[in-house]
Amino acid sequence: MIHYVVLTTGSCGNCYVITDGCDTIVIDIGVTFTKFQKGLESHGIDISTVRAVFLTHLHPDHSKGAGVFQRKLRLPVYMSSTAVDGNAAVIERQRFERDLITPYEFGDEISAGHFTVLPFRSFHDSIGSAGYLVRIHGRSLFVMTDTGIIPEEAGALAEGADVEFIEANYDDDMLDQGPYTAALKRRIRGEYGHLSNKEAVGFASRTAGQGDSVYFVHLSRNNNTPDLVRGEIARTIPSGVFCKVCERGETFEGFIDDEESWWKEEGKTFEDEGLQERKAR
Ligand SMILES: [Zn+2]
Ligand SMILES: [Zn+2]
Repeated sequence: MIHYVVLTTGSCGNCYVITDGCDTIVIDIGVTFTKFQKGLESHGIDISTVRAVFLTHLHPDHSKGAGVFQRKLRLPVYMSSTAVDGNAAVIERQRFERDLITPYEFGDEISAGHFTVLPFRSFHDSIGSAGYLVRIHGRSLFVMTDTGIIPEEAGALAEGADVEFIEANYDDDMLDQGPYTAALKRRIRGEYGHLSNKEAVGFASRTAGQGDSVYFVHLSRNNNTPDLVRGEIARTIPSGVFCKVCERGETFEGFIDDEESWWKEEGKTFEDEGLQERKAR
């Protein structure tokens, strides 16, 4: 069984955890280490199964827990080499452990336990930002957050995914009429800003198939409401796709498949991999 958790999302912090019970990876750790630890505990995820953190970018709401994570667990934090090279001051300020940063190139396939992680370039005002496709046991999960435009390769990657996490940051009219300065509005709408509800839901309607799950994440406090996203979903996404709007700061979890079917897919039995033992724990 694959178990995934949105520990929190929004400008207050973002953190996604994906596990198969043996190996766990984390995408973004924009929470304190204590909150991270408690979050894993409350969802029954053993912290000793964590293999790595993958960062989408270095804004504190995505990365502020990374330094302490490195010091406590001595585990790698992955980010693009462009992010490493272009954010020296930020890496210093957020007190990362340099020797536990693992840079990658876009196009790399990264192995972490049972996981294979494919980073893709995103467009945001943090140099070297990324989205991820995560593959495990023949299934895949797609994460695209904090990007002003939808990257070219994102559609093909998301199409095969069972679960998508997509940023739905702002509603066009609310942003228009809201309190932000013209410059900030331009920044949010711009190539290196955020995705609107229309863009996010439109993308999901093109890429999610029957039985897939889509989580809309990173809603703006000032320029969006969950109901506006739900309205857009009702107008655009066909039934048969499970859609969930993740309200700011709340926790969500889901599961893919039962153990039997994915172990069968791989031509293995429970006993082969000692899964009985883990199930019994
Ligand atoms: Zn963010
Ligand atoms: Zn950001």
